[in-house]
Amino acid sequence: MSHSICKNIKQIEQEIGNTQLVVVSKYRSLPELQEVYDGGHRHYGENRVQELTTKYENLPKDIHWHLIGHLQSNKVKYIAPFIYLIHSIDSLKLLKEVDKEARKHQRVISFLFQMHIAQEETKFGLSKTELDEILLDQEYINLTHVACKGLMGMASNTEDIDQVKKEFEYLNSVYTELKDKHHYDTLSMGMSGDYLTAIAEGSNLIRVGSKIFSVQ
Ligand SMILES: *Cc1c(COP(=O)(O)O)cnc(C)c1O
Repeated sequence: MSHSICKNIKQIEQEIGNTQLVVVSKYRSLPELQEVYDGGHRHYGENRVQELTTKYENLPKDIHWHLIGHLQSNKVKYIAPFIYLIHSIDSLKLLKEVDKEARKHQRVISFLFQMHIAQEETKFGLSKTELDEILLDQEYINLTHVACKGLMGMASNTEDIDQVKKEFEYLNSVYTELKDKHHYDTLSMGMSGDYLTAIAEGSNLIRVGSKIFSVQ
């Protein structure tokens, strides 16, 4: 493993204890990913279906692939055979498509509901009201080939730590409200710039890219 990638991962692992680290590999080359793989890592996050499937085809098959970016219904079929966890479910319509494709492959696909917690309007995700509506929808309750594991969210892209902290705190409060009843175990929040804040606010899965691959 190249010195800086190795060093960066080790440093992050020391900081995060038992928190699950998903290495965000978007834009990174196959040789870079192979290096991370050789260092023992098996959880990778991609935000685009095309790039994810190409990497899946060219790398060892025991990798757990996480889709972390926005997913369009017409792309679900490409990832359904192998995807490990979809972090970005933001509508019942999309989830029904995932269920349909999972059924074709006789799989149950795990997913997270993505919630909108940032101030920016550009970030995808559900409001609490929309989430509650889905959870009560009989069509949702009847789905058999998808399994919700918890929630995901992205905080505002700002230097204002108090704002970021507030957003993570809010997402954790929603997660805490729902997790026992629905058997959730995953709260996916925190990226390179804010993972320590996220962990302090209850995250148990962080998605880190640039901090791992950048030369420091
Ligand atoms: C790119 C991305 C990340 C990782 O961001 P870094 O700042 O590079 O760590 C995490 N989550 C999502 C949804 C992303 O798109």
